[in-house]
Amino acid sequence: MKGFKDLLSHSTNIVEGIPAAPGIQIGTAFLYKKDILSVETALITDVEEALQNLDEAIARSKKELNKIFSLAKEKMGEARADIFEAQLMILDDPVLMESIKNQIRSEKRSPEYIVHKEITKYQELMIIANELYMRERAIDIEDIKERIIRNLQKKRLQSKVQPNRIIVSDSITPADTILFAKSSVLGYVVDHGGLTSHAAIIARSLDIPAVVGTHSGSQQIKNEDFLIIDGFQGYVFVNPTEEQINYYKNKIDNLTKINTELIGLKDKPAETTDGRNILIMANVDVSGEIDTVVTKGAHGIGLYRTEQIIEELGSFPDEEEQYNIYNNLASRIYPDVITIRAFDTGGDKVKLMDFKEANPFLGLRGVRFLLENEKIFRTQIKAVLRASVNKNIQFMIPMVSTLQEIKRVKEILHSCRTELNSSKIPFDKHLKLGIMIEVPSSAVMAGEYAKHVDFISIGTNDLIQYLLAVDRGNDVVSALYQEFHPSVIRTLHHIITETKKAGKTVSICGEMAADTLAIPLLVGMGIDVISVSPSAIPSIKRTIRAFSMKKAKALVNQCLDSDNEEEIQNIIKKFFKENSIQRTRNII
Ligand code: PEP
Ligand code: MG
Repeated sequence: MKGFKDLLSHSTNIVEGIPAAPGIQIGTAFLYKKDILSVETALITDVEEALQNLDEAIARSKKELNKIFSLAKEKMGEARADIFEAQLMILDDPVLMESIKNQIRSEKRSPEYIVHKEITKYQELMIIANELYMRERAIDIEDIKERIIRNLQKKRLQSKVQPNRIIVSDSITPADTILFAKSSVLGYVVDHGGLTSHAAIIARSLDIPAVVGTHSGSQQIKNEDFLIIDGFQGYVFVNPTEEQINYYKNKIDNLTKINTELIGLKDKPAETTDGRNILIMANVDVSGEIDTVVTKGAHGIGLYRTEQIIEELGSFPDEEEQYNIYNNLASRIYPDVITIRAFDTGGDKVKLMDFKEANPFLGLRGVRFLLENEKIFRTQIKAVLRASVNKNIQFMIPMVSTLQEIKRVKEILHSCRTELNSSKIPFDKHLKLGIMIEVPSSAVMAGEYAKHVDFISIGTNDLIQYLLAVDRGNDVVSALYQEFHPSVIRTLHHIITETKKAGKTVSICGEMAADTLAIPLLVGMGIDVISVSPSAIPSIKRTIRAFSMKKAKALVNQCLDSDNEEEIQNIIKKFFKENSIQRTRNII
């Protein structure tokens, strides 16, 4: 059989992008485009017929929403599915519906025009309310408005994704990624976005192959085209040749064999050949992932991105809702530990306030936002504390850049504890507090900052973007986002060494650790905990079990001496060869 290079060399049917989530799938393309709504304004002659059409459209809309609601409950649990229940209630609102019907009768215009006008009015009132909760409801209502109008126009539901398809789109949001996953999508091909964009991270978490940053993939690929998506290498084959199909069928067979072998590692320790044990934990974005965490053999959750709750719910959860979510996760993972990260909003993530910033990545992100909006922060801290009674929760602060921030967080934490104490509400008095090192200033100061907290977790996704001044989600500059840049390697070494000198635990929860090539370096530097997407865990374990700490330390020294990233990669690749290790991000 021909090799991969031969397969590429004479092919004109390849769309190239960034390999954002590993895996290979063969299937049919589904071109995802959002509908542009146009509304018929004409006068009508038959009012009774128009009213009947409206009733039918509402009934159909309810049916669709009910379906989404039960799917959401199945994937995300009852609490998070509430958003759809609220939408259903609007469809049942007798005042709104009666007002729409009355206007059809009096104005004698098409129901779609009246629905559009009336619901838009309703939305405008909510937007003016200038309250986040109300503005979010206005977005929910937009969906209902479009749904009723589409059903009045008897159009097919375009936002509904056909099952078992490879989604091709110019862009998808993290929320789309979660939503589409409910239709058993086979893969994502997206024109925009980079390796660490949140849509890509979620695809990895859900084990769905993704190729992003294809620039014009959604123009080159037509609906129903037959595709092969290669999430390891970042290629999409459009209407592949027989030779290409055979090549990939063979690869899928190999993958299945390797997966079976990896599953066998589930209960084995992540231990080097000379006995250094690394704790492997999982990064969790979506509540449905928790089962994968357990089946893939992780020992707890090293990063729970709570801002994802806002993304999934479409609204800000109150203390009770948060408590239920944290408590549920902590119970399911018990006796292992869950690391709950405080809301990391801003940047490319969900925003809690409607304000414009020229440089959101350098703006009110993470802890900066939380300290400016203490009420939101206190609500989260109290929910976390209440859920910590079984002593298996630790709390982590994102985007720290100054010591002042750490001190202020500790004051607020202390005050929340006092408040709960005086209300006689139990919590873990020794709840561990950690900070993420994602900003170069904290990287430099890691040793000092570590003295003030219980643990340090390195967020390489952001750290690399800030260190190299390369937007993590921008495909145009993705070649400059170099995880093995000598400055990155030296910075990681500094953080790990200084944190250990301070006697504190150091972990990594950035996606860099999902590339097995980084593992001997991180282990050799002395990392204690590695937290990654669940799907990457077996191959990381396999890698750690294949080398000795002694050799890894020598490898670190060699890489620290190098001044260019290509050489560093080559040094590690040689190490892989010598120790018979397979790289997992790009192989198979
Ligand atoms: C990181 O920056 O590496 C990280 C883990 O946080 P996030 O990807 O959520 O920004
Ligand atoms: Mg980050």
